[in-house]
Amino acid sequence: MSANLAVTVLGLGPMGRALAGAFVAAGVRTTVWNRTPGRDTELVGRGALRAASAAEAVAASELTVVCVVDYDAADAVLRRPGVAEALKGRTVANLSADTPTRARDAAAWAADHGVRYLDGSIMTPVTTIGTPDGVFIYSGPKDLYDEQQSVLSALGGAHTHLGEDHGRAAAYDVALLDIFWTTMAGCAHALAVARAEGVTPGELAPFAKGIGAILPEAIEEMSQAVAEGDYSGTSNPITSSASSMKHIIATSESHGVDAGVMRAAAGQAQRVIGLGYGTDGFVRVTELIAGGLAAAEPERG
Ligand code: NDP
Repeated sequence: MSANLAVTVLGLGPMGRALAGAFVAAGVRTTVWNRTPGRDTELVGRGALRAASAAEAVAASELTVVCVVDYDAADAVLRRPGVAEALKGRTVANLSADTPTRARDAAAWAADHGVRYLDGSIMTPVTTIGTPDGVFIYSGPKDLYDEQQSVLSALGGAHTHLGEDHGRAAAYDVALLDIFWTTMAGCAHALAVARAEGVTPGELAPFAKGIGAILPEAIEEMSQAVAEGDYSGTSNPITSSASSMKHIIATSESHGVDAGVMRAAAGQAQRVIGLGYGTDGFVRVTELIAGGLAAAEPERG
């Protein structure tokens, strides 16, 4: 990696530190700043440059990567005295997570201040940064993305530009994290129910991973069903799904384990059945929760 490349990283939480560390390791001249001082000690020891203020930090590089908890925090950093002025004509890649609307608002602010702006999301944990396993998604002007690839690729992993609409990376991010967090909620509940039944986490884990291995195919099938509007549930009707969920809720609540998440999912399945779509697959829930499911014609059963 060329020593002529330079980047500024604003935000030194676990992810910001991982990003800055990967840039340093790749030989990129890396200037760092964080709201709370002291988080840069290890990075500076490895060769990062400490800036005394956010304005000084952004003035040090053509590209500034922002990675803080959310866009309230990102706004607070970017609107510090002198920062917008120092950023004029330079580029910000905001890799903090938030909603598509906040991403578009941030892009509008940047445009108003003459700042070139890319939005992005990081889809993998800190341990993947600087390795081939990292996944980074971006949206905003394609030419700007291409221009900054020489620096951003120092982070390793896969980098994908998803479109010019600045909200698009965040749209992917919230949809993908929706899958992640509901799965995590399911895992937490499964571990609690299993333990209540005398099954240890170590005993359950190999089988739990087997369930995880089913998901890629299920995602493929569900995506295709929604894309094609074909909800037929010949191999697994939603009545069967609802029955399975009932067993989970009964077991959970018999041990006093809160089954709220499963109750919510079971309630959606029951509503689909109640509207007359009992022979369809679970994926019909997508239409229900989007508000587009009218009662079926009577002959559907
Ligand atoms: P956090 O989400 O906890 O963010 C911590 C950073 O945000 C610190 O630099 C903190 O500064 C800063 N911050 C918080 N509030 C403010 C504020 N009001 N003004 C200025 N700075 C503020 O930790 P991470 O570093 O892990 O995450 C950063 C981003 O990366 C998040 O959006 C997260 O969703 C995303 N991400 C993280 C992953 C991970 O594995 N950790 C994986 C994928 C994405 P201070 O030190 O001063 O408190």
